[in-house]
Amino acid sequence: MKKLLHRLTALTLVLALLSAFLPAFPACAAETAPSGSDVSSVSDQEPSDQKPSDPEPGKKPVPLNAPQKLAVSVKQETVTLTWAKVSGATGYQIWRKTGKQDYSLLKTVKTPNYKDDSVKNKQTYTYQVSAYYTSEGKTVPGKRSNAVTAEVLPLSGFVICVDAGHGNKKALGKVKLAPKSSKKVCGGTVGTQGSYTGVSEAALTLQVAKKLKTALEEQGATVVMTRTGSSCKLNNIQRCKIATKAGADLTIRLHADSSTSHSAHGISMQLPASTYCSGSIVKKSGSAGKKIYKSVLKTTKAKGRGMVKRRDLVGFNWSKTPTVLIEMGFMSNKREDKKLQTSAYQKKIVKGIVNGTVSYFS
Ligand SMILES: [Zn+2]
Repeated sequence: MKKLLHRLTALTLVLALLSAFLPAFPACAAETAPSGSDVSSVSDQEPSDQKPSDPEPGKKPVPLNAPQKLAVSVKQETVTLTWAKVSGATGYQIWRKTGKQDYSLLKTVKTPNYKDDSVKNKQTYTYQVSAYYTSEGKTVPGKRSNAVTAEVLPLSGFVICVDAGHGNKKALGKVKLAPKSSKKVCGGTVGTQGSYTGVSEAALTLQVAKKLKTALEEQGATVVMTRTGSSCKLNNIQRCKIATKAGADLTIRLHADSSTSHSAHGISMQLPASTYCSGSIVKKSGSAGKKIYKSVLKTTKAKGRGMVKRRDLVGFNWSKTPTVLIEMGFMSNKREDKKLQTSAYQKKIVKGIVNGTVSYFS
């Protein structure tokens, strides 16, 4: 036993001597941490320009844990990142890679959030965040978080309500023309139908609405539909409420016209009037409507019948979101009725609406 104690004492002595004369091993950088670490002086530099830190001899800094709950959202060419605060962090490093490139240090921030407005449209970005702290003048990089990806598209972050006009069932009962009006009007109708094709307006608007939804989503928008099936008896107040509940930035109502004159044809844009709608709704609707109207005339080459402000429509007067209503053509006109039933023409209408919408939001 005594012999063993002697041996242990000798071993301890050897180890103590070794540690005094051998240089300390540099602390390993965290496996997911950047190669560089002197954050305070390189916040705008590429990681390749950074020099590894030399921890104090004999000390091994412990890297902070990776930030949790990294969340990303995109709106109007700005990517917003948020994450959970890391205890003990002096600040955070934000790492970004564009497309298939490597990560580079984008920014160093003090609080657990960042708005990146240095992004370009139609580009995909991937982010990671790491927390760091300073110890005796040195920066100790932490582990990197999970990656999140943001696709920047023209309509990213916008909610659009697409309202396919009418339904195959008549909305029952009468409703108030506007919240502050005592006048009672029909809450909704079944719409018109093609004089030559026999197709209902409700069926046509749904066909276009579905194409429009897909096309808007391709541009990054979140789309909410007032109806996705033919069976519908929503009145126009209920349609407004769907848009309001979804927090729609714009409501696009799709309709088609009819006239006793079979020669009448072309596209018109209908917009809320100021009688019952707020100044903001009237202004925003007018701006969106003008852009969409011009754009649709360009893609369809249809006759433009003008833009009209309406104070007699329930779907405008109850709307709490900017709203436009496009009359896509006359179902009572032989040429237009047939044309409206072709996928090619519907796509032209959709393209025009999407281009106008992108222009309104940009
Ligand atoms: Zn209609």
